[in-house]
Amino acid sequence: MARARQLIVGNWKMNGLGADLVELRAVAAAVGGKTTPTVGICPPATLIARAVQTAADSAVVIGGQDCHPKASGAHTGDVSAEMLADAGARLVIVGHSERRADHGETDALVRAKAQAGWRAGLKAILCVGETRAEREAGRALSVISAQLAGSVPDGADPTNIAIAYEPVWAIGTGLVAGTDDIAEAHAHIRAALGKRFGAAGSGIAILYGGSVKPDNARAILALDAVDGALVGGASLKAADFLAIVAAAG
Ligand code: PEP
Repeated sequence: MARARQLIVGNWKMNGLGADLVELRAVAAAVGGKTTPTVGICPPATLIARAVQTAADSAVVIGGQDCHPKASGAHTGDVSAEMLADAGARLVIVGHSERRADHGETDALVRAKAQAGWRAGLKAILCVGETRAEREAGRALSVISAQLAGSVPDGADPTNIAIAYEPVWAIGTGLVAGTDDIAEAHAHIRAALGKRFGAAGSGIAILYGGSVKPDNARAILALDAVDGALVGGASLKAADFLAIVAAAG
């Protein structure tokens, strides 16, 4: 099976004002029309429309960090997948561990959000990953299996979804999973996707996320089982993010 094209996505989380689009402008200028790897940035919802304009002359795609399962309605403060698409987004992150923890998001809700993204024509980047306690208890792979089974919708294929393996203990901590552990988790995810979705599952990109930085990106992205990265803190500065993009190239 040919390896999926690498996908490098920046998650700005709750960071970024209009002035910070200068970083996206620099990323877009450096990426230009290059589509390998595919480069995405997910700014806060307030910046999506301006980010789409900022990146318009480049191959950089813009995404949301979350969406509501419904298209519209009485859900104060929420943003629907249709609204993201209307603003020009093409990706949406669902099931990030910060949302699972901060907002009590269940696998069923994450599945509904991925389906909402599809309904609006967005590619979902669906996050799974174990906590430190779960890893120490030897439950990392079973937790990942349960999250995949519960949150990846039927109908998943390489065009509509990418899975991000993000060990919770590695996010924003500077701690990175060892390459053996990453390879093991990714192989486990690949096997689960293949079993459930057949050939379509074999082509779904599996990204690693968790303190990916310019100095560790090359080793992580060189792993056969790794099809890209979801990058938090290091996506806020163009120079750092571009170094990670270069490591994938
Ligand atoms: C993330 O937010 O998905 C993430 C991986 O963050 P960081 O790179 O900062 O660990």
